[in-house]
Amino acid sequence: MAKKKHEKRVSDALPKTSENKEKVVIYKPNMTVLMLAEALGKPVNQVIMKLIQNGIMASQSNTVDRDTVELIALDYGYEVKDEVITDITRFDEFKIVDDESDLEKRPPVVTIMGHVDHGKTTLLDTIRNSRVALGEAGGITQHIGAYQINHNGYDITFIDTPGHAAFSQMRARGASITDIVVLVVAADDGVMPQTEEAIEHAKAAKCPIIVAVNKIDKPQANPDRVMEELSRYNLIPEAWGGDTIYVNISALKGTGVKELLENIELVADIAELKANPNRLAMGTVIEAGLDKNKGPYATLLVQNGTLKVGDCLVCGETFGKVRTMEDDRHVRYQAAKPSQALMITGLDGVCQAGDKFMVFSSEQEAKAVAEERHIRNKSQEADNKPKNINDLFNAIDSKNKELNIIIKADAQGSAEALKNSLLKIEVPDVSLNIIRCNVGTITDDDINLADGSKALIIGFNVRPMPNVKNTANAKHVQIRLYSIIYDVTNDIEAALKGLLDPVYEDVVSGYLEIRELFKISKVGTIAGCYVTDGYVTNTATIRLLREGIVVYEGKLATLRRFKDDVKEVKAGYECGIRIEGYNDIKVGDVIEASTTKEVKQ
Ligand code: GDP
Repeated sequence: MAKKKHEKRVSDALPKTSENKEKVVIYKPNMTVLMLAEALGKPVNQVIMKLIQNGIMASQSNTVDRDTVELIALDYGYEVKDEVITDITRFDEFKIVDDESDLEKRPPVVTIMGHVDHGKTTLLDTIRNSRVALGEAGGITQHIGAYQINHNGYDITFIDTPGHAAFSQMRARGASITDIVVLVVAADDGVMPQTEEAIEHAKAAKCPIIVAVNKIDKPQANPDRVMEELSRYNLIPEAWGGDTIYVNISALKGTGVKELLENIELVADIAELKANPNRLAMGTVIEAGLDKNKGPYATLLVQNGTLKVGDCLVCGETFGKVRTMEDDRHVRYQAAKPSQALMITGLDGVCQAGDKFMVFSSEQEAKAVAEERHIRNKSQEADNKPKNINDLFNAIDSKNKELNIIIKADAQGSAEALKNSLLKIEVPDVSLNIIRCNVGTITDDDINLADGSKALIIGFNVRPMPNVKNTANAKHVQIRLYSIIYDVTNDIEAALKGLLDPVYEDVVSGYLEIRELFKISKVGTIAGCYVTDGYVTNTATIRLLREGIVVYEGKLATLRRFKDDVKEVKAGYECGIRIEGYNDIKVGDVIEASTTKEVKQ
């Protein structure tokens, strides 16, 4: 029964073949004039003429945007529809729409976020242990990445890997698994950098936030201060006329936890979370690994449908036949409903957290799909090109696009000035969304947020450290570095208009660490350095970085090894340098050396 239903629904989500017989043009991203002409069944020259009549000069290989396609298609009496993915091997890109009548209420999936030491783990433990108090079986638990509780007959799933990296990594892989974020803020500490990060992550994911003001048992606790501080982030308490729920809790003592759970239920009810339990399951891998006894295992969050023992499925590019399913208390299940997260065995390989999974009606089909996905991923890995700015635009709807931006600057003043200048840029149908704007060097969390939100990072007088840059490169996150506001606004405006050549080229040649200082009167400060990465030349442009912030930009006056002037020093060697016209160097500063000036795009 269920299998048939699933097949019907998937095919419902696919375009009807009859659509092509009607006068419909399927719009695809990067559609060329030639492709448009073919779709319309018209000679390409005729289409080019039509474009010219509409004031658009284009050759057959030029791409046309959706508006242009619509304009020309309408002229020929065609309707334009967006491409719908029909290839079953790309199931992770499917948007399955169930009939309203098939949908049933499902439990909320909650992630707990907040600053380190504010009590996330304690809260997760207290809620997990409350199951015993709530009359559920206790016993030894195992970490599977998620657990479910039943509170007053109401199920709630908690993702129990606190931390923003996990959250944004999931999002980066296209998996939005969280319905509600509980933001834990210690009442004796207030809003801290990672609190701010958590708010940005939750807002970027468009998740409702419930604030849990923790550690109210402490004498220094000041919950009002937390409310005041968070109001600046637009999390205005209901008591003050806003719509953010605040609950005072002590995760350690258990105070207020019941109230927190009740509020989660309330927010979940408002969100009207629903799924269709009567279809083959699909969802996301929460955690995965290899156990020497069990073999490959994965914790799967069922997001739609029902997962059953014996089901054949594809997780990422791995095939499997569900052998066992168990929760964090080692309780075995035969079936898992929407929002349930269970650890399964029976996979033929190790998949990855964030992979999507889908059940197929036949083993043969599942195996073929897994195989095909494996081959495709391998070939994609081979030509994995960096993202360009065009890849960063998020479609809000068929007409409007949005570009997410993260601003990191050397000072609050420049961050605000840059933000205000960027927000003044007006380009039709494209909007800028600044998801983070703060002071300091570019960090791994910035890369995670950018990766998860498809954002562009703008560094203003700040530079990423080499390890952060490596992470950015690995994730193909774009970082653009500037020191003049006008250059930023110019470039971004050009990018929004689609005029900017998007490739970011870095011409940094190496990094030096300053280990010793020698002050020589009449000459200045000579820095004893060690080249940690790449190389430095005597003609290099250098940036002096203190905690990742550019404190000076200029040229080298001298580059020496022992007493000799040299042209170049490579990684692993020591050298003595003097910066032209600058002596305020400190031990621990880092010098970033570039061989030529930054490439203008
Ligand atoms: P996490 O880093 O956010 O996961 O924080 P933890 O849950 O590890 O908690 C950090 C410290 O704060 C631990 O020593 C906890 O015992 C303590 N803690 C957590 N919640 C409370 C609370 O409600 N009251 C008090 N007094 N201490 C707490």
